[in-house]
Amino acid sequence: MKTSVIITCIECPRGCRITVLKEADGYRVEGNQCPRGKEYALREAECPMRTLTTTVKTVFPDMPRLPVKTSKDIPLENVFCFMERINSVTLRERIPHGGEIDCELPGGARLVVTGDTRREAGEASHWENF
Ligand code: SF4
Repeated sequence: MKTSVIITCIECPRGCRITVLKEADGYRVEGNQCPRGKEYALREAECPMRTLTTTVKTVFPDMPRLPVKTSKDIPLENVFCFMERINSVTLRERIPHGGEIDCELPGGARLVVTGDTRREAGEASHWENF
C-alpha cells in the first residue's frame, strides 16, 4: 500500500473523502464523518473487495453471452484470476435467473446467473428493448 490513499466512502450518500495514512504503528484515518466510514476506508486500503459482474459464453444463438455475478465479494486484486476461470466456461444448458453455474471459483465463490436464458423462441429479449 502507498503511504496514504484518498478514498471516497460509498457507505452513504454523503460520500466523504477519507484519507488513510500508513504509519509505523498502523493506520490513521481522517475525513470520515462516522465509524462506518472508518471501517470502509480501512477495508478499501487493506483489501478492497468487489462483486464481479460479467458474462459467460453460451451455445445458444439467441443469447450467446449470459450475464452473471459472483455470489460474494472477491478480492479486487484477484479479478483477473477469476476472469480467466470464468472465460473458460461455455454454458450448454439453460439456467434460470438466480441459478448457479457449475464453475469452481477460488475462495468458495459461486457463479450466479443474473440474466434469463429460458425465453421461448421468438419472445423479445429484454436486451432488445435498449
Ligand atoms: S464516512 Fe460516514 S457519513 Fe461519510 S460517507 Fe461514509 S458512511 Fe457516510
